[in-house]
Amino acid sequence: MAPIEPPPPLSGKKRRIGVMTSGGDAPGMNGAVRAVVRMSIAQNCEAYAIYEGYEGLVQGGDMIREMGWEDVRGFLSEGGTLIGTARCKAFMERPGRLNAAKNMIIKGIDALIICGGDGSLTGADKFRGEWPGLLEELVEKKELTAEQVEPFKHLNIVGLVGSIDNDLSMTDATIGCYSSLGRICESVDCIDATALSHQRAFVIEVMGRHCGWLALMAGVSTGADYVFLPENPPSENWEAEMCSIIKRHRDLGKRKTIVIVAEGAHDRNLRKISPLHVKTLLTDTLRLDTRITTLGHVQRGGTACAYDRMLATLQGAEAVKAVLEATPDTPSPVICMVENKIERRPLLQAVKQTHEVAEAIAAKDFDRAMGLRDAEFAEYWQAYNITTATDQPQLRLPEEKRLRVGIIHIGAPAGGMNAATRAAVAYCLARGHTPVALHNGFPGLIRHHDDKPLGAVREVSWLDAEGWASKGGSEIGTNRGLPSEDMATVAMCFEKYKIQALFAVGGFEAFTSISELRKARDQYESLKIPMVILPATVSNNVPGTEYSIGSDTCLNALIQYCDACRQSASSSRRRVFVIETQGGASGYIATLAGLSIGAFAVYTPEDGINIKMLDRDIDHLREHFSKDKGQNRAGKIILRNEKASKTYTTEIIASMIREEARGRFESRVGVPGHFQQGTTPSPMDRVRAARFGVKSLQHIENFIGKSKDEIADDPMSASVIGIKGAKVLFSSMKYVEENETDWKDRRPKDEFWMGLKDVVDTLSGRPKALPTP
Ligand code: ATP
Repeated sequence: MAPIEPPPPLSGKKRRIGVMTSGGDAPGMNGAVRAVVRMSIAQNCEAYAIYEGYEGLVQGGDMIREMGWEDVRGFLSEGGTLIGTARCKAFMERPGRLNAAKNMIIKGIDALIICGGDGSLTGADKFRGEWPGLLEELVEKKELTAEQVEPFKHLNIVGLVGSIDNDLSMTDATIGCYSSLGRICESVDCIDATALSHQRAFVIEVMGRHCGWLALMAGVSTGADYVFLPENPPSENWEAEMCSIIKRHRDLGKRKTIVIVAEGAHDRNLRKISPLHVKTLLTDTLRLDTRITTLGHVQRGGTACAYDRMLATLQGAEAVKAVLEATPDTPSPVICMVENKIERRPLLQAVKQTHEVAEAIAAKDFDRAMGLRDAEFAEYWQAYNITTATDQPQLRLPEEKRLRVGIIHIGAPAGGMNAATRAAVAYCLARGHTPVALHNGFPGLIRHHDDKPLGAVREVSWLDAEGWASKGGSEIGTNRGLPSEDMATVAMCFEKYKIQALFAVGGFEAFTSISELRKARDQYESLKIPMVILPATVSNNVPGTEYSIGSDTCLNALIQYCDACRQSASSSRRRVFVIETQGGASGYIATLAGLSIGAFAVYTPEDGINIKMLDRDIDHLREHFSKDKGQNRAGKIILRNEKASKTYTTEIIASMIREEARGRFESRVGVPGHFQQGTTPSPMDRVRAARFGVKSLQHIENFIGKSKDEIADDPMSASVIGIKGAKVLFSSMKYVEENETDWKDRRPKDEFWMGLKDVVDTLSGRPKALPTP
């Protein structure tokens, strides 16, 4: 990031930026503090930590301390908040805030970055609103002089939303919510095994007083039978409805039942729905052996997942930028995430809208409460409902509009492939379509299409796919082979099995396959059908999207591996790990993992590796370890993408470091290999897979009733679903193939994440890279 010219309010002095964490702790808060501290220092400002939230601001003294570069080392991998948090009563009252203002001026702090929930941000906004009055009062009461307060006339406040509930309006994700969802999914996955063994029912209570995000997402990602959310209570006769849905699932052969209850769940008359009430119903009405599990504070704990580390780091860096760009008239911003884009939104409005949700719930205006949540939330709710209740006659299409939908996995396995397939199957069945699995990719179809009835083409039942939400790998088998291996047979199979639409899940091979099928439509009538590809690959290199399912699972596996390496490095000697990541010719995984673990350097195929770069990095390592007097034994991690350079292999780089270190430090190689595909898919991959799976099928339905030629002539009849910036959209394959694809290197021409490399380098203090010769 290029240095921003800061406005000089302190007449020649460096700007001092305060950072605090407040309200309930959330995984990722430490990453935000690290990013704010280091980015402030990198921008020639001073960073101060305010300990114990507003309590530190009110008390001042030693609770407001300057932070150096090294003080935040290791913060990214720690859970909770290392600078403490508290609920501070004193700050709720004006005298407390007056003290806080005085302490800030005494410490010379004129900008505050607060990471907390809606309460903390409300407090922050109030503080800024009162600021001029507080300064006047301080002068009036002779606690400070007019000269002392003069340079502090304008207080800059920037909010970062740190909360596990994901309850702030205007942002898709708060720092901590995906880590918390991860804890919930881990627990439900464990409970699943015992429930299945004993054919039990479990009622699981999760956090969320006014916000059902955790409950809903847990429902989507674990395939729960029923969920209760505060914003959208069930119908008047929910007891009968819930029992009927669960009974139907049991009648279809399901051996377990999971019901998720948000702690703030209630009925349409605001009567609390307790886990005990649900348990009694399941026991008395359905005679199910039912247990209750309250997950409680487990949901807050542990280290942050990759997404939260990335979010916290990018938002922390953006918050510093916002401070430096603010003018006296800029409204206080809160840093938000919309799909894949960091945006600044007015803090006041975001807090107001958040409070309106609680007000709408209290007024029993549940449509409004849902409407005030983001559009994404409503889509997840819809996806959950369509894919869960099996008996919804109102959703079924008339006979003549029903399709036989082929579902195929192509390429290497990636987390979320099964979840996407489960959602597509459930959606098809709800609408009356027939989901047909094409097993083992195109080679499976080409070689085994005659082996009936257990051949490569099989209709999938609800029960077949029901348990796939949390399963890793590919249940229907995947293969890298392309349809061009034998296009005539592929086309013949589509004809023979009456495939009227195709839903393909996979990476660059899937993209290439759909491209081939699209181009072969001129020759084969049976290929004139709607086709959608849902990108799924650890490499995240599919054109037409900034996010492929599976990439988040991969990042989580990778940071787990890197955390273990770093721990080993800090427990033994001063050590540098050179870790080789997957990603093909795309440096996405290496860069994002670098951001999430605070890598010393990241080597990508896009930039390549050259001798000057290595020389500079080794010099920097030498300098770093020479300053170390033994008190700081934390290791360093270098991430090298597998195709970053043909010459400078991972081994060679590690050997060069070893040689040049001359015994002062050492190096090791780490190759996590297939470990990066992960075991169980991450919650983010699961929920996005479900949402995109449903959206893909809805897109396919746009072509019902169209002739083959109409379909072939419509560029959107072969498309890729993806996230681009703040939007989820379908792009025409033809357009993406011709304009956005780097076919040689098998990646998008424009890789949105390239700018993030600068942030990794800035926050690790890496010397600026010279342009590659
Ligand atoms: P969580 O989402 O985890 O509950 P939160 O930030 O909403 O986090 P709160 O306990 O509501 O948590 O708020 C944290 C602190 O923010 C309070 O203890 C108080 O010091 C301050 N605060 C909250 N609301 C206000 C307010 N209206 N005016 C002044 N200060 C406030």
